[in-house]
Amino acid sequence: MARVACRYGLTAEELAGHFAVDDNCLSSPLAIDDRAPALDQTRVWAQACGVDPERLQRLALSKRYPRRSRSWYVSAGPEWAPSAPPRSTPVCVACFAADQAAGRDAYLRAGWMLAERCICPDHGQLLQDRCVSCHRRLSVAFRLRDGRAQPACSCCGLLLADRGGEGGRPHDALVRAAHAVQQRITASVNGENAEQEQFEKALAILWAPLDHPAAARPVLALWFNEAGWRCPYDVRHAVGAKTPLGQLPVRWRLLTLLALNDIFGADPRVDDTLPPAAAHLVRRAAPRQIRFSSRRPSGQALKRSSAEYEGLARQILADPCWIAAAKLPPRKRERVRARLIDAALARNWPASPGAALSPKLPSDEQAIQKC
Ligand SMILES: [Zn+2]
Ligand SMILES: [Zn+2]
Repeated sequence: MARVACRYGLTAEELAGHFAVDDNCLSSPLAIDDRAPALDQTRVWAQACGVDPERLQRLALSKRYPRRSRSWYVSAGPEWAPSAPPRSTPVCVACFAADQAAGRDAYLRAGWMLAERCICPDHGQLLQDRCVSCHRRLSVAFRLRDGRAQPACSCCGLLLADRGGEGGRPHDALVRAAHAVQQRITASVNGENAEQEQFEKALAILWAPLDHPAAARPVLALWFNEAGWRCPYDVRHAVGAKTPLGQLPVRWRLLTLLALNDIFGADPRVDDTLPPAAAHLVRRAAPRQIRFSSRRPSGQALKRSSAEYEGLARQILADPCWIAAAKLPPRKRERVRARLIDAALARNWPASPGAALSPKLPSDEQAIQKC
C-alpha cells in the first residue's frame, strides 16, 4: 500500500482513506490493520488495483502466521514515546540497501513486525527503531526517487540507507546468541512446536515487578545485578506486562532474549525442575497488578495528598542510608535517593482507592523530591 501510495504523494493510510469514500468527498486517513484487515477494505483495494482479492488477503499477517496471537506482534506500548507516529516498525537498513542494489522499490518486511525479532536473519544486524538523525521513534515514509520507492524517516525525512552499522552494533557473539533464541521463539510461536506457553511464562517472569506488585523495577534487574539500577522511563510500561516483548524497544528486546537464554536456558520449563538461579527469580516475581489504564482521565491517578508526600520525604531524610549517603558523590546519592523513594512508595499505599492502581508514577517521585 505504501509503495503504491507514494507514487501519488500519499501515505498508505491516506490512500486507504481515498479508497473508502466517494470521489467527490473529502477523505481522511484510515487506519490499516496489517494483521487482519477488514474484508470489505481489501475488496475495495483489490478492485481499485485490479488484483485478485484472495491474493491480497493472503498478505495479511494473520494468514502468513495463522497460529500467532496479536500479543506476539510489535505494538507501540501505551506510554512509550506518546508523540510517536502510530505506525512505527523497526527496520533493517541492510535490507533496504539490498532493495536499492537490486534496483527495486524498498519495502517493509512482514518479519519486522514479530515481537521477538530484534536481529535481521539475513544480515545479522540489530534492527533500528530510532531515527539516527531526529532520534524519534522510527516510522517509515516512502518517497519516490529515481522512479523507485525509497524509505525515509516520516518525521525528519532522512533517507534510510545502510551507513555501515550506524548507531552501533552489539558484539557479534551476543548477536549470534540472541539470534538463536529469537529463532527458537519464532518457531514455537508460529506453532511448529508446543513451547510457546513456556516462553510466555519465562518472559513474563523476567518483566514481573520485583518483590512487590507496585515495584517500578522488573525481576530482570536481578540479572543486571547493579546496585541502585533504575528502570528507564521508556520501558517502565512493560513491567508487569503479560507479553512484554512486543512492547519493548529493540535493544531491550535483545537484552531480554539474552537474559532468557542465560537464566532459563535454551528450552525454558517454568516448573519444579527449574535450575536454582531461575527458581530464585521466580520467587522474587510479584503478581501482576491491574495496570493503570491510559484511558483514565489524567490527574485522577495522583491521589496522595501533599501531607502524605511530606511524610514520605521526612521518612527518607531520616533513613540511615540517606544520612550515610551524604559522603557519596552526587550521582551515587541520586541512586540512593531513588531507591529510598521506591521503597517508601512501595511500603505506603495511598489513602485513596483511585491511586492504588498506579501507586508509582514519575510525578510521585517528583513530588517527594520537591518536599
Ligand atoms: Zn536485513
Ligand atoms: Zn528522523
